[in-house]
Amino acid sequence: MSQVIDLLRELVAIPSVNPSGGEPDDALYGEARMVAHLEAFLGRHKIDCKRQKACDGRENLIAVVEGRSAQPIILESHTDTVAVEGMEIEPFDPRVEGGKLYGRGACDDKGSLAAMVMALVNVAASGTPAQTCVLAATCDEEYRFSGVNALVERPEDVGLSVEQLRTGMACAGEPTGLDVVVAHKGAYRWCLRTRGCAAHSSDPTQGENAIYTMSRLVGLLEEYAESLGARPKPVRGAG
Ligand SMILES: [Zn+2]
Repeated sequence: MSQVIDLLRELVAIPSVNPSGGEPDDALYGEARMVAHLEAFLGRHKIDCKRQKACDGRENLIAVVEGRSAQPIILESHTDTVAVEGMEIEPFDPRVEGGKLYGRGACDDKGSLAAMVMALVNVAASGTPAQTCVLAATCDEEYRFSGVNALVERPEDVGLSVEQLRTGMACAGEPTGLDVVVAHKGAYRWCLRTRGCAAHSSDPTQGENAIYTMSRLVGLLEEYAESLGARPKPVRGAG
């Protein structure tokens, strides 16, 4: 465990804030320093890594320990963090207090990343595993998911096949209070536009107010959101 905590301290001390549409610059933003650090760390443990370009200046780092079966177990975690504005503690100076480590990304997602890296190191040190073990340290999870999208769209970039992704098992590390979560909500972003019709102010009934139409639509969206919350939750082991 102390190795996980040591590695977690190192990762938290490396700023890797998602630029959220801006340019990844050297001081605070982007995952480049994380990729380089993890690559060197895994290299010291004789684990092969491949970089995969996700989008401009942003890369995934994929490490593979070949097993007797090519059907992989994929451990996935992300290297970017949310922003640091409004934080009341020093974001990049990890502190342990009361058995917890504090700093930007300590929980989301560098805690699981450090645990997964050390798990892979331990697997590699124990000889050839029964199944191929893959660590996918993906970029850009907090904004556009370009990292994990690149991995599932072009696994051949890092020596994996679509078949391996389909038949393997994957575990994504995210803060869940140590509960196992079997489903994830999606996101779909729309741009809705309502159109009206102008009329002379002496007789507005001749026109159509686009704002009134939109307000009815917003009410319907609120009702729909409430109905989603009432749907049965996915159950562990249900597939
Ligand atoms: Zn996360």
